[in-house]
Amino acid sequence: MKLRTKIHLYTTLLMLVLLVIMNSGVYLLYEQLAINTEYKQLKSDSEEFLTAFNNLSDVTDPSIVLRAYMPTNGAIRVLNESGNEIFSVEALSFEAIQLEVGKNEEYAMNEVDGLPIIMIETPAIWKDSNIVTIQLIQRLDDVAKNLDLLKLILIAVTALVTIPLLLSNMGLSRIILKPLERLSEAMKKNATSGTYEKIDEADVGKDELAEIGRTFNGMMEALETNYRKQEQFVSNASHELKTPLTVIESYAKLLLRRGFTNEKVATEALEAIVNESSRMNELIVQMLELAKNKERTSLSIHKVNLAQLLDDTLSQMQQAYNRSFELKGETQLYTYTDEQKLKQLLFILLDNARKYSDDKIIVTATKLGESISITIQDFGEGIPKDQISHLFDRFYRVNKDRNRKTGGTGLGLAIAKELAERLKIKINVASEIGVGSSFTLLVPIQKDLSEEDNQ
Ligand code: ADP
Repeated sequence: MKLRTKIHLYTTLLMLVLLVIMNSGVYLLYEQLAINTEYKQLKSDSEEFLTAFNNLSDVTDPSIVLRAYMPTNGAIRVLNESGNEIFSVEALSFEAIQLEVGKNEEYAMNEVDGLPIIMIETPAIWKDSNIVTIQLIQRLDDVAKNLDLLKLILIAVTALVTIPLLLSNMGLSRIILKPLERLSEAMKKNATSGTYEKIDEADVGKDELAEIGRTFNGMMEALETNYRKQEQFVSNASHELKTPLTVIESYAKLLLRRGFTNEKVATEALEAIVNESSRMNELIVQMLELAKNKERTSLSIHKVNLAQLLDDTLSQMQQAYNRSFELKGETQLYTYTDEQKLKQLLFILLDNARKYSDDKIIVTATKLGESISITIQDFGEGIPKDQISHLFDRFYRVNKDRNRKTGGTGLGLAIAKELAERLKIKINVASEIGVGSSFTLLVPIQKDLSEEDNQ
């Protein structure tokens, strides 16, 4: 059975059961109230009757009083102490009907032909001075009539209510299940065709189901973007690896053909092979780095003196490349951050500054509001304005030929961007062709980075 039919069936059934219970309650309550009213009426009649009965003189015929107070559609019976009837006046005969007032009860009830009968008893002193029991009996015709009418009304109401109930349940199950059905259809389609289709009308409405739809669409969008990025990355990576491999292959062939007879050719080929293999090695290391960063390895947050860290880093660069790196600015700049990751980020920027310029490189560190600003400035070739926004894309290089000489991969700044995001660092780039470039890091001064990120 479909979920929609099930919901429809169960809710309708439940509502009908509730309706029947409610109606039965109303019916029973009314019945009880009506009988109570009749009982009270009979009781007050019996009290009046007793007063009149006690005022009888010896000579008066008791049947006159009895007849005067006999209930309509009822009877009055007088029983002696042993319970035998000694006198009675009857509009109707109740001979064959079992009527007995229980110990703690105020009246007795029974039924004849579907009509309720009520009886109350009261003690009295008969004219022979013996104690007798007087029974007042009445058939409750009006109560029966009213109860029949009520029954009819309640059945009619139940039948009438059932139709809108069925319709509203159908509407309800539609409202609930339609978006879910759409969602399931979209999921099936995506699973079989491998696409990232979204569902329509998900933006309409603010309820939880619309929210599920929007979440699904958001998820599909994120998956699609991710997939496209991965696709792009794989095609870029294979393209980037193909070039050094082709170079290596062609030089290896040259070496095979002429390398054994010509030493110059052999040296040139081997140099090219060594260069390209180390470039390939660097490329693979960087690609692995990018893949690793995505796994969000946990950060190791400590209090770091940035000025000190910069000093150490610049000394290492100076040592390795024999270039001039100048440190300016404040000397006491503390923040809580992952020292190793920040150092990795600095190395990428410093290495670029070194690669794309020949002059000295100036690094300035100062406190700027809630951040520490670190600017790496070079006086190199600069970057065209329209290309600055692409610098952080994977495999992006301003000028492929220019950078082939410098051995770039186009992955350095992509790694830098991911590191900066993890450390909540903002990177600003300013550059002018022929003048130079400056990359500014805004490192937040904070304590709670570890608590947020190491969870
Ligand atoms: P690469 O390995 O090519 O250096 P990056 O991602 O580090 O890759 O940099 C992307 C491109 O941005 C570089 O190829 C270069 O063209 C440009 N670039 C980065 N830093 C500088 C800089 N300081 N000066 C000039 N150009 C730069």
